Amino acid sequence: MARYQAPRGTQDVLPEDQAYWQWVLGLAREIAGRYGFQPIDVPVFEDTEVFARGVGTGTDIVEKEMYTFKDRGGRSLTLRPEFTAGIVRAYIEHGMRVRPQPVKLYAIGPVFRYEAPQAGRYRQHTQFSCECIGEADALADFEIMSIAWDLYAALGFQEVQFQLNSIGCQHCRPPYIRDVLVPYLQSRINELSKIDVERLQKNPLRVLDTKEPESQPVVAEAPPITEHLCAECRDHFAQLRFYLDMLERPYELNPRLVRGLDYYTKTVFEVTAAGLGAQNAVGGGGRYDGLVEVLGGPPTPGVGFAAGIERIVLVLKAQGTTPPPLPAPRVYFVHHGSPAKDAAVALADQLRHSGIGALVAFGNRSMKSQMRQASKSSARYVVIIGEEELSRGEVQVKDLQTGQQVAVRQAELVQWFQNLFAQHPPQ
Ligand code: AMP
Repeated sequence: MARYQAPRGTQDVLPEDQAYWQWVLGLAREIAGRYGFQPIDVPVFEDTEVFARGVGTGTDIVEKEMYTFKDRGGRSLTLRPEFTAGIVRAYIEHGMRVRPQPVKLYAIGPVFRYEAPQAGRYRQHTQFSCECIGEADALADFEIMSIAWDLYAALGFQEVQFQLNSIGCQHCRPPYIRDVLVPYLQSRINELSKIDVERLQKNPLRVLDTKEPESQPVVAEAPPITEHLCAECRDHFAQLRFYLDMLERPYELNPRLVRGLDYYTKTVFEVTAAGLGAQNAVGGGGRYDGLVEVLGGPPTPGVGFAAGIERIVLVLKAQGTTPPPLPAPRVYFVHHGSPAKDAAVALADQLRHSGIGALVAFGNRSMKSQMRQASKSSARYVVIIGEEELSRGEVQVKDLQTGQQVAVRQAELVQWFQNLFAQHPPQ
């Protein structure tokens, strides 16, 4: 066993998995760009307050999952557990409200949550997060959901399900919780699990998405918040559903979907896909009309979503989808004798500088052993230089796939490969 292992809940993405990652991230960037989203990078850590206030002190993330530490200057900092709060902090700090609204931003990078690791749930995972800040129109919610839709569709996901709910706003949610939900849950408190009795005191809305088997019959019959929305939230929800219906994006209404972050208002949604076990959410998001204000900016609406890249890769593997291969050298030089090796080094240098990847056999092994190495590499073409070829100013180029071999003049080798690859681009 290795002396050191990656910390619990973290993982290495090895070269053999990188093709999945590059494919997913390339598509994510491309699709976000089609909707006018621009990339942003924010720090991996922020002032703890940004998340405590932004995500909300009563949430699991803030109470149990943050990596919080004091730096040597005594400041309390936290590794980001999500992107939204940091991006909103940047929006306010850089006065982005004077730019044309909405400001559409996306970020890709690691986030950190101290969770119990299991398949699909890690302590460091990677998010693709899209944030549309400064627009109240339900069309913005639709576009955010649409980016998620387009990404999963481009990846060929099967059995994608969108679950949708509205959890109202600061006007209609508190009276719903106070006058409808809490009295209902209290009337059946004896049937709730211990954890949910605690939640009822601290964050009653979260009882609705409990996983506790004991509490299921109670929450199944809870009066849905969607029947207690104010006129504005009701209209907003209807408009979003109109767009989803118009463009035939299937979704399921789930009155129990509340999501774990305090900042959500109105729209919340979650996306699941086949191929994952219990941790089957591949993305989720919602509207956060109060967040900019909570972090010290002027009242500004916003809506966003985040997708977990590790889980997307797990789904691709479970569904048997293979990504396009990453570019790798297709030419391998084998040589016999020191002058031939020097010629190989110089020719490989010319190829690389003209944009063609090339490998040169290290050392001075036998031609047979170099050929074996070539066949284990990414290369399809082997350039063979022996004493005879060298004296004629030539090389032999062997196609490992067809077994065909031709002589090519050294001075023409770059042009020869350029012509070949123009006709046969890599698959
Ligand atoms: P959330 O901010 O919790 O909605 O997370 C957004 C997405 O990130 C989820 O839908 C998952 O795909 C992914 N995700 C969240 N937490 C984890 C985790 N601990 N490990 C891996 N992926 C995660």
